[in-house]
Amino acid sequence: MRYISTRGQAPALSFEEVVLTGMASDGGLYVPETVPQLSHDDLAAMAGLSYAEIAFRVMQPYVNGEIDDETFRTIVTEAYATFSHDAVVPLNQLDANHFLLELFHGPTLAFKDVALQLLGRLLDHFLKKRGERAVIMGATSGDTGSAAIEGCRHCDNLDIFILHPYQRVSEVQRRQMTSVLADNVFNVAIEGNFDDAQAMVKASFADQSFLNGTRLVAVNSINWARIMAQIVYYVASAVALGAPHRKVSFCVPSANFGNVFAGYMAYRMGLPVERFVIATNANDILHRTLAANDFSKQELKATLAPSMDIVVSSNFERLLFEAYGRDGAAVAALLERFQAEPTALADAPLARLRELFASHSVDDASILEVIREAHHRTQEILDPHTATGYRAAERERGEASVPMVTLATAHPAKFAEAVVKAGFPGVPLPPHMDDLLEREERYTVLPAELSAVQQFVVDNRR
Ligand SMILES: *Cc1c(COP(=O)(O)O)cnc(C)c1O
Repeated sequence: MRYISTRGQAPALSFEEVVLTGMASDGGLYVPETVPQLSHDDLAAMAGLSYAEIAFRVMQPYVNGEIDDETFRTIVTEAYATFSHDAVVPLNQLDANHFLLELFHGPTLAFKDVALQLLGRLLDHFLKKRGERAVIMGATSGDTGSAAIEGCRHCDNLDIFILHPYQRVSEVQRRQMTSVLADNVFNVAIEGNFDDAQAMVKASFADQSFLNGTRLVAVNSINWARIMAQIVYYVASAVALGAPHRKVSFCVPSANFGNVFAGYMAYRMGLPVERFVIATNANDILHRTLAANDFSKQELKATLAPSMDIVVSSNFERLLFEAYGRDGAAVAALLERFQAEPTALADAPLARLRELFASHSVDDASILEVIREAHHRTQEILDPHTATGYRAAERERGEASVPMVTLATAHPAKFAEAVVKAGFPGVPLPPHMDDLLEREERYTVLPAELSAVQQFVVDNRR
């Protein structure tokens, strides 16, 4: 199997190349050339298997023999052994047929661990095989940075530099990054805002000469391996609820569309899914596009669900590629128009999307209301991202006989501010993290100057 670009102009790549590469050279994103199929019997045979074994079976065709089975099994097993729940991603039943899929039992308490625990290990494996080292650079305002650090802290062939805006990240989120004292982890607090930090990372990718030939790797959500890892929990949860004998629906709190696109891939592989409900916060480009065919950028709004604060959903391009019948030229033309001005999807692709996807946008006032309402009805305290999903699932729920699985993307202790605003006294950190606020921290404060940051990287990489 090869991987091809959604804009049709970049060379096809192997799995190894696609893991080491971010964006395609034509500006597109890589997708598998063909979709591996899970038959009725394959799905039936997964009943009762461990999460790691299901993960191996779902992902093995994408790896395409480029890692031998035994090694890949070890990588997968080690990645998911870092989760604090034996089921890795347990299902929590809320009512007769509404379930929460708890994706927050990883090292940083948010769903990005599922992908980044695997990605760090895959990168390390391929770099070791090639006898190469690489540098990871990223900018974060929260979830991605800590999950990337946890995913790479044990990697011998990687040094990771994560930039965060000095004094503008919540204490829990900062400490999740800065209390990792591994030799290959470098936290840089930039005297500026998130955009300053991100601009320096972008500039470093655009001109990598400061690294004298060392590979620079991105771990943002456009990396195919992150999507691949996320397909697994759709399959595992559906099998637990009776697939392939029964359909399920999924509701996904969404921003860059990586998570729900992984669900779509599970569907394309043969998982019986009734429909996907996309939940957004007030940054609702996905909802506006699906509901009103308004495919346009709007100003960024800071919400109570900050990990879903986006202007553009980068992975939506992967779904557009499918909706447009894999016509890379049409996708490239649409996205060029979109960059310049408000635009709309063509009728046929939009109709295709509406057959499978519903959407709902949830503003801050509703998030607080949902946290209270869900607690009243179920005794659960939802994090603000999961709250958008709960509301969307209740509103857009289809046939009552089909189980609805809402993806719980973060632990409420990670976003306690919203929970307190909703009127609760706060949420304790889980036992394995309850000393987080006492742990030693390590980070370097630097001015928002590209040369200072790049010099720091050069001086400290191993
Ligand atoms: C990243 C994130 C999301 C959004 O996921 P996408 O894959 O970008 O759609 C939702 N909730 C939480 C807690 C996140 O960290």
